[in-house]
Amino acid sequence: MPLDTSLSGVSVLVAGAGLAGLAAARDLADRGADVTIIEARDRVGGRVFTIRNGFAESQHGEAGGDMIDQGHEEVRRLTQELGLKLVPILHRGFGYARADSTGRVRIVQRNVARSWTRLAAQLEPFSRLYRLGERRWDTPITSEIARMSVAQWLDDVRADDELRATATGLRGFFLADSEELSLLALIDQFSDNGSPVPSRMSRVEGGNDRLATSIAAALGARVRLGTELAAVSHRGRGVRASVKSGRQTSQIQVDYLLFALPATLLRRIPITPALPAQQHEAIARLQYGRATKTLLQFARRFWRAPARPRAFGSPLPFGAVWEANEEQRGKPGILALLAGGAASNATADVVSREGVAGLARSLDWLGSRDQEVLGWRQVVWESDPWSRGGYAVFDPLFDPRLRGWLSQPCERLFFAGEHTSIRWQGYMNGAVESGRRAAAEIASTHRITI
Ligand SMILES: Cc1cc2nc3c(=O)[nH]c(=O)nc-3n(C[C@H](O)[C@H](O)[C@H](O)COP(=O)(O)OP(=O)(O)OC[C@H]3O[C@@H](n4cnc5c(N)ncnc54)[C@H](O)[C@@H]3O)c2cc1C
Repeated sequence: MPLDTSLSGVSVLVAGAGLAGLAAARDLADRGADVTIIEARDRVGGRVFTIRNGFAESQHGEAGGDMIDQGHEEVRRLTQELGLKLVPILHRGFGYARADSTGRVRIVQRNVARSWTRLAAQLEPFSRLYRLGERRWDTPITSEIARMSVAQWLDDVRADDELRATATGLRGFFLADSEELSLLALIDQFSDNGSPVPSRMSRVEGGNDRLATSIAAALGARVRLGTELAAVSHRGRGVRASVKSGRQTSQIQVDYLLFALPATLLRRIPITPALPAQQHEAIARLQYGRATKTLLQFARRFWRAPARPRAFGSPLPFGAVWEANEEQRGKPGILALLAGGAASNATADVVSREGVAGLARSLDWLGSRDQEVLGWRQVVWESDPWSRGGYAVFDPLFDPRLRGWLSQPCERLFFAGEHTSIRWQGYMNGAVESGRRAAAEIASTHRITI
């Protein structure tokens, strides 16, 4: 049976119009399904959020997902399919900024690779065990590694200041401090993708949200904004969803339901009959990282200097910082500051105490002194009601044997979203891939059961 007709006459409700839900809805519609996609916000894209207002010269910046790496094949494929263009950015990679013994912030090295190599070498005994267990999350080896926090491990190996600073800098990537992060998350990262620092990065020309808005435009009236999934009942041969739109609640009856919501929101939705106990626990227990992203537009791009990177990791309160609109014309330029874990609160504190000027001052080491801030926007993702966090974080209390349950279909219910991806959790690529996977699962389930 050709794929494009295999779901003809089948109705599917997709909850959540982030990249996962939209990628799923697009594939389902292509297969001929009768798709409805509901989204609680008044916009599509979810954690991909391009901010276009508030900046001079029509510049824009990404308040959520920004960099698309070389290996992010699904998101690259989708970009191409939608006729969008990727523009390479930040080709000098990431440098590193740290306070010296006098407290002055300095760019300590041009390339962070050396610090990661040191960290990877220290982790090697655990990485080897993890590889022996074929990187599976259901082995006793993994359970043992998972219980340890990165902070405990640093104490155990009597880490020096440099190693600790490298680990602290990782909160800009994992969105969690060493105490909150399972050692397993770190081992998993280093034993697969190597250094967590992105390489050969790109972003979508005109804004990453074009991925979402292009799909939504093609789906047309099938996308219902301002509509929240409130409850689900999946007895018998169909699924009944209660959806809220303003003050109105209505029921939608479909053949299949695809959840593309962060676990933080999914766990608030009553599902009858309940999901299997382990699946329920996996969704209930999953933590999300704190992340504040600030976009600061300056009158000129003072941070540019010959041979100097335009992106920096740091263990400092402002987090990681990079040029957010290298590909856009104009004299002004935008810096993105991504503060993960405790840095998220620290950044918000600086702004509430000293205003945005205080935050700009903390970039003195890049030359921000006396530079005019033309515009700024800040998103505190843990305070965002429809994400309640940056992205999923595996903490030492999460039982790794539960991970597979996050993506496990249950009868007529299917699950997508960044947090369900094994290889690309925390990335736009994971969202897109998981959406396409869940759409394919529905198609297969349907073919098996008819
Ligand atoms: C600060 C930050 C920086 C990031 N940087 C990068 C990066 O550089 N590169 C990268 O690849 N990734 C990055 N990411 C991760 C990436 O943005 C996410 O992995 C991805 O966008 C998640 O997509 P999703 O579809 O799984 O979830 P979401 O985008 O969260 O989509 C879920 C949707 O469901 C909606 N929703 C929630 N509850 C309900 C409900 N009850 N009913 C209906 N709708 C509901 C939400 O409003 C949302 O639109 C970053 C994320 C953040 C927060």
